[in-house]
Amino acid sequence: MTSSEEDHFRIFFLPFMAPGHMIPTMDMARLFATRGIKSTIVTTPANTAFFTETIQLHSPNPGLEIDLLTMQFPYEAAGLPEGCENADSLNSPEMFYRFFKAIDLLQHPFENLLEKFQPDCLIADHFVHWANSVAGKFGIPCLIFHGSSYFSQCITNNLLRYEPYKNLSSDSDTFVVPGDFPDEIKFTKSELSPYDKKEGPEFLIELMDKVEDATRASYGVIMNSFYELESGYADYYEKVMGFKHWHIAPFSLHFDEGDNIEADHRGKKASIDVNECKRWLDEKQDDSVLYVCLGSMSNVSDDQLHEIAIALEALGQNFILVVIVRREDTKEWVPQGFETRGLIIRGWAPQPMILNHRGVGGFVTHCGWNSILEGVVAGVPMVTWPHHAEQFYNEKLVTNVLKIGIQVGATKWVPRVGEHDILISNKQILNAMSRLLIGEEAQDMRRRAREFKKMAMKAISQGGSSWSHLNALVKELKAHKR
Ligand code: UDP
Repeated sequence: MTSSEEDHFRIFFLPFMAPGHMIPTMDMARLFATRGIKSTIVTTPANTAFFTETIQLHSPNPGLEIDLLTMQFPYEAAGLPEGCENADSLNSPEMFYRFFKAIDLLQHPFENLLEKFQPDCLIADHFVHWANSVAGKFGIPCLIFHGSSYFSQCITNNLLRYEPYKNLSSDSDTFVVPGDFPDEIKFTKSELSPYDKKEGPEFLIELMDKVEDATRASYGVIMNSFYELESGYADYYEKVMGFKHWHIAPFSLHFDEGDNIEADHRGKKASIDVNECKRWLDEKQDDSVLYVCLGSMSNVSDDQLHEIAIALEALGQNFILVVIVRREDTKEWVPQGFETRGLIIRGWAPQPMILNHRGVGGFVTHCGWNSILEGVVAGVPMVTWPHHAEQFYNEKLVTNVLKIGIQVGATKWVPRVGEHDILISNKQILNAMSRLLIGEEAQDMRRRAREFKKMAMKAISQGGSSWSHLNALVKELKAHKR
């Protein structure tokens, strides 16, 4: 093989279709492109706009080769309405089931693309459990992209392995997760994801088993993390759980966007003029604004929004509150005169710009892993408010291990869609927000958060842990092709 053939290395990226998976995949594709690799993202028609805007935004960068291929989404066969191609548009458990069925049905069209374009490697989201066997058919390595922390992988692994939640007298009894971890990690049964206690819907338990098998059989795992953030758990993942892995994040930090404020759109256009939002922040004192965003898909009721609004009123600080609009906004939750001290963004917020602004001093987060990492990168302490997925595990990492956050006091895992009766009172919310922003404890957390920010910068700098892992991975993949 000639060196130019070797240099011409093409990776296919296959993301799960949800904002929290597509954003890091887009960043990852750009990151590999900076190492001279041709990055191709494969998705479905309704999701292309999400990627094309970012690709166009960055296409002036000379030599960056990123492109997009599409496969038709199998609405009819999966029984989903037309246009419903992203997990953020699912609003019932039945639709979730059908969505995963649609992902399975994409296997055949994806194989056709591999056959036609013959890439050298596949990087697939862990939810696409068939990706590894498909890559095997074409003799190329498949890397699994895990969108979450080492910490949560370790917790899930040991919950499934030791079932420590069994034989507790109640769901609110605390127990310690067994394992030779660097810290004592305690949970109650009600905080655990149903799949990790084998109580979830049958299809999800089966899916997670397939995901585990495929991940073990794959070439290795790409982690959206950096070593210094959770070193004890990265070591455990490798030495005890036996995974070959590369930590190459925080992805976004690898790019110097300069003053390119547009870069904040990241697929979805912000629902507020980004310059206007920045100007509003520019007028505020350092560390004085609280940013509240409970993710791209969280199940937050009007009653809960009302409690948040009352807490923000009582707090008396500037704030930015993001309200994901999924239905007609009734405004019933808004107390009178509420918006005067804050900005309410109904829809999509330019989150990285806000978090990285010097005016922002705290982040109320649902503990999605991307948001946690973005909070870490910005050096901002957090109020942790987990809802579903592995968010309760991420909360423990932030509050008990890293000690850069205060728990709001959520004690029960709630499903992503459908009704639930969990309501965190305004008093609880206010208490957590005040502790985050005011007093000695707050200053300690801010100092520690800034140290993690520095560590993140160091990890992606020349010779740093993520920089080295990325380069080692690229070198290894090219050698594997040879
Ligand atoms: N996000 C954003 N604006 C919003 C809401 C979310 O930019 O108004 C981004 C956020 O910065 C993060 C991603 O969407 O990168 C959400 O991923 P995360 O893992 O935090 O949570 P999920 O929404 O997947 O539960």
